[in-house]
Amino acid sequence: MEKHANQIEYEKRIGRVLITEQEIKEEIKKAGEKISALYDGRPILLVAILKGSFVFMADLSRAINAPCEVAFMCAQSYFSGTESSGKVNIVMDLDRDVSKYHVVIVEDIVDTGRTLKYLHKLIGDRNPLSLHVVTLLDKKERRVVDFTPDISLFEIPDYFVIGYGLDCDEKYRNLPYIAEYKVNI
Ligand code: 5GP
Repeated sequence: MEKHANQIEYEKRIGRVLITEQEIKEEIKKAGEKISALYDGRPILLVAILKGSFVFMADLSRAINAPCEVAFMCAQSYFSGTESSGKVNIVMDLDRDVSKYHVVIVEDIVDTGRTLKYLHKLIGDRNPLSLHVVTLLDKKERRVVDFTPDISLFEIPDYFVIGYGLDCDEKYRNLPYIAEYKVNI
């Protein structure tokens, strides 16, 4: 059967694989061990920032060997050109009071840092027992505000990436690896 035109267009845009499935798996195992040791049985609430972090959250939570709960927040960053403006729209807020938890924000990628700086303050102001940030990817060289995640699994150069939760126009989130997105083909 011939491939549908959509399928051909979809595949053409998937560039070089930057991080393989196996590499992600290994780093998540280490991050899970680190988080388990850090809290040592105290009540952890993992807060995934949707949609990008849904895959990372699923795997990271299963690598944590300690009592933990999960919660979700859906945030949309406003972009001016290709950069987030720092104005964040909370599309779906948390379903609980965080003041009884050690909160770990689970993010897919930190780019300019504006989104996480905003969310870190927003959640911090609700007085969690403690607050940490873990990100799968970090584009350190793109930072425009002062923000450093507590745990970062991979530092990547300034490429637009897709896969493992990260999208382009809502597609490619289901790729099991991180790849470069081909803007020009
Ligand atoms: P920041 O506020 O740190 O500039 O932007 C963070 C948000 O921008 C991320 O949560 C993500 O949604 C989006 N973003 C930044 N870089 C990339 C990228 O390379 N690929 C994808 N798919 N999204 C990105």
